[in-house]
Amino acid sequence: MTGGDGRPTRWSLDRSPSIAQLAAAGAVAVQPIGAYEQHGPHLPLATDAILAEEFAAAAVTKLAGDLPVWVLPTIAYGASSEHVGFPGTISLSSSTLTAVCTDVASSVLASGIHRMIFVNAHGGNPELLQLLCRELRAATGMLAMTVHAPSLPGVEDGVGGIDVHGGRYETSVMLALMPEAVAQPLPGPDGLGIAASFDGFEHLAAGGVAAVPWLTSDVSAGGVIGDPSAADAEWGAAMFDAQATALAGIIGELSRFQYRPPTDPGTQQ
Ligand SMILES: [Zn+2]
Repeated sequence: MTGGDGRPTRWSLDRSPSIAQLAAAGAVAVQPIGAYEQHGPHLPLATDAILAEEFAAAAVTKLAGDLPVWVLPTIAYGASSEHVGFPGTISLSSSTLTAVCTDVASSVLASGIHRMIFVNAHGGNPELLQLLCRELRAATGMLAMTVHAPSLPGVEDGVGGIDVHGGRYETSVMLALMPEAVAQPLPGPDGLGIAASFDGFEHLAAGGVAAVPWLTSDVSAGGVIGDPSAADAEWGAAMFDAQATALAGIIGELSRFQYRPPTDPGTQQ
C-alpha cells in the first residue's frame, strides 16, 4: 500500500494532518477513476476500476520521493451506458458522474490543493472529464486535468487490429497484474464487425470527428470488442510499466506547470 519511500500510493493510509502538509507543499491530488461494467465472460466487472487504481499506484511509486501527491479513493463507477443491458453493469449518468467528480474536486480545493489529475481507465469517461476540468478551471482557477491511461504511449505490439473492450490489451494487462481474476479459457475474437458497419460510408465511423455512438450490443454478442485470445501477460506487463512511467512523467510535470500570464500587446517590445 506504500511506495518504496513509505509514501501512500493508495487511499486508505492518509490522515488529515498529512493532507495539510501536502497542501502546504503544493501537492497534486491523484484521482483514479474507472467503471464497473461487463467485460465479457473472462474479465471482472471492476476491470477499469482496478486498472485505474493500479496505474495511479504504480505511477506514484515511480515519482521522486519528495514530490508531494495525495492519492484519493478510487471512483469505481463510471459512465457506462454503452454496456447497459449486459448483467452486472452499473452506470452513472453523465450528469451524476459530473456532479460526483466536481464535488470531489471542490473538496480537494477546500483542502488547499489546487492541482489534480483524474487517472482514468474507462473509455466512456474522458470527454466528460475533460469538460468538467475546464469548467473547474473557469469557475475556481483549479488546475485539474484528465489522462486516459490505456491510451498513453506503451510498447509496440506488432499485432494491431480492433481492440476496444475486453480484448488483447485489457486481458494482457489483467493477466500481468491479477492473473487469478482472469477466467480461462479466454474467449475468441468478438465485436470486430464494428468496422464493417461503416463499409460504404465515406465520413461516418465508430470514432474520430464523425463518430456515430455505438452500444456494445450493436456490435458484439458476448460483450467483447477485440480478441482476448491474443492476450499475452508479458506484453501486458511491458505495456503497463511503460504507460505507468509516462503517467508518472505527467504527474511530475503537472506539479510544476503554470500558465504564463499573457502579455498586453500594447506593451510588447
Ligand atoms: Zn475496460
